[in-house]
This record gives sequence, structure tokens and C-alpha cells, in this order.
Amino acid sequence: MRAVRPDLSPPHSPRVVADAREPECGAGEALVRVTRVVLTPADAACVEHGHFRGVLGSQFAGVIKKINVPDGAPASISARKGWMGKRVVAAPSIACASCDLCRGGLSVHCRARKVLGIHDRDGGLCDMVSVPLGALHLVPDSVDDQCAPFAHMVSGALHAANMLRSEQKSFITVLGDSASALVCAQVLARMNAAVRLLSPRTDRLRLCERWGIKHRAIDEPGRRQDQDVVVDCTGSSAGLALALQMVRPRGIVLLKDPAAQRPISLGSAGLGHGWKTPVDLSPAVVNEVQILGSRDGPMPDALRMLSEQAVDVGALITRRMKLEDAPEALRLMATGEPAAIVIEVA
Ligand SMILES: [Zn+2]
Repeated sequence: MRAVRPDLSPPHSPRVVADAREPECGAGEALVRVTRVVLTPADAACVEHGHFRGVLGSQFAGVIKKINVPDGAPASISARKGWMGKRVVAAPSIACASCDLCRGGLSVHCRARKVLGIHDRDGGLCDMVSVPLGALHLVPDSVDDQCAPFAHMVSGALHAANMLRSEQKSFITVLGDSASALVCAQVLARMNAAVRLLSPRTDRLRLCERWGIKHRAIDEPGRRQDQDVVVDCTGSSAGLALALQMVRPRGIVLLKDPAAQRPISLGSAGLGHGWKTPVDLSPAVVNEVQILGSRDGPMPDALRMLSEQAVDVGALITRRMKLEDAPEALRLMATGEPAAIVIEVA
């Protein structure tokens, strides 16, 4: 089978291996034939950081080809025996189920966490991938293969919305140009909130125009400290510094995405590039600002939202490419120019 993984020797560029071995279907796991993968900045960052040697691709959809449910499996897993041939997506974070955090109900922060296609566990840029049954979710018929892999991204935006839910109408600014920023702006706009997106890219602002979401070029805004919430999706110190200039006293800065692997222009606020430069956090103390981190959210809710077409992910797809072109697609993602590239595997 085909699989895309980083080369063993530096600079660990991704390449297509034509004769990769088909994975074993372990106990409590399912073998999934991959149909579509959406590439995100996190996948490109994973290549750049060079720590991961497995099959890339963290967000994918596919069809179950084999199921291995051992005797004595919990009822929630045994119930999935009937999922043969079903369309599924995977939540990329895989918890161990036995550490103190997992046993305490915080498996999302498992101490031995693996992440499909990013950390310690093969992802979906291949023909077949084995995934723990507990990480799989059925895709409703009304969600097509193209949009299904965006479920994880939508779930993260829903989690952010849940963290921010408030009684009063709030003013929220989303910073960034990634697909995640655009999904976040759409999901937050459904709350009781006045939402605007600040992005350096005019094509992203045009999408907001289409969705009826307020938007501005990132170097235009005043720094009036008048926003109740600033959601920083730039993954950069410069983004956090800008957020601290825009948020009101006792407001919230929510950090949505991990470190950016590429420079992002933040206008007069400078050039964001990961968390490498120090940030002056004194405004956070002086203005008593809460800084929150936010990650994975509820996949079933995200799939429901996609099936109701309550969020437009189709418009985020800049290009569609074949599995053979995935290395080139990852290079393109690293430039920040495409919002999202969908890889058509089967
Ligand atoms: Zn654990």
C-alpha cells in the first residue's frame, strides 16, 4: 500500500512510500480504508519539527474494512462490531485509558497521549490505517467525504465556543488566516456575540464577506482594548501580543492553535512565527486578562453541525490533490497560502 511519511534522513522531507506494509488490526481497533485527508498547518508543522517518523495526516475520513473486538471488550466497543463498511472519521488524540488523568475523566490530557499522524501513531496519508474503535465516529449520510475530515477542526471551534459561552452579548475578535481561524469565526458567530475576523489575506476576508461575518485587514484595527474576547489562531507570540493590546480589562484571550510553522504578517504588530520571541505579558497583569488554552472538542456535535450545514467548510478547500502529490501539498501548506488542501486517496 501507499503511505506518506518523513524521510529517515535529514531534512526529513515527506515522501510517498509505494510498498509500505499494511498495518495490523490490533485488539479493539479497526482497519480503515482512507478516502480523504485534509491537510492543516499542524501537519506541515509536524514535518518541519522533524520529531515524527510515522505516516502523516491527522485529519481523515475513510471506510471500515476490518474490526477486531476482543472478548470481554467494554460494551461501548463491542457495540461497534456492526460498523463494518461504515464511513468514519477519527478524533486524532488517542488516550491510554489507564493513567491517573484518564481514570480521573480527563483522557483528553492523557499523560501517554498519542496523536494520529503527529505523535507516536500513524495517521491517514495512506491507503489503510488502524485506529482504536473508541476514537472513531460515524459520518452522517448528509456529510460528504470531502467535508467529513473537517470534523475535528469544527469540534475544536465548538470547544472554544463552549468555553466562552456567556449570558451577555460579547464582542469577539478572531485573529488569523488558517482554516481553523475561519471555522472558529463561523462557529462563534452563531453564539450571542458580535464576531469579526482579522486576517492578513484578502481571500480569507472575502469568505467572511460571503458568510456575513465582520472582517478587517489585520493591520487596520485600533488597539483600544475594547474586545471582550480575542481568539488568537495565529500560533505566534506576535498574535498574543496583538491580542493583549485589543482585549478589554478583565477580558479573555483564548489561544486556539499550536505554534505556527511559518511566518504570518500581522501588519504593524510585526511578523508572527511560532512562540520563539518573548511576549510582554505585563498587560495581562495590569488589565487582569485571562489567558486560556483550548484544543479538542466534541466530535459528535461537530458532525451534527456539518450535517446541518451550519458551518461552511467546502469553501475552505483551496485545492484537491492526489496522494502522490501529498509531499508537494505539505510544502504548499507550509507557505500559509492555501486555507486547506484535501488529498483524495480513494
Ligand atoms: Zn492516559
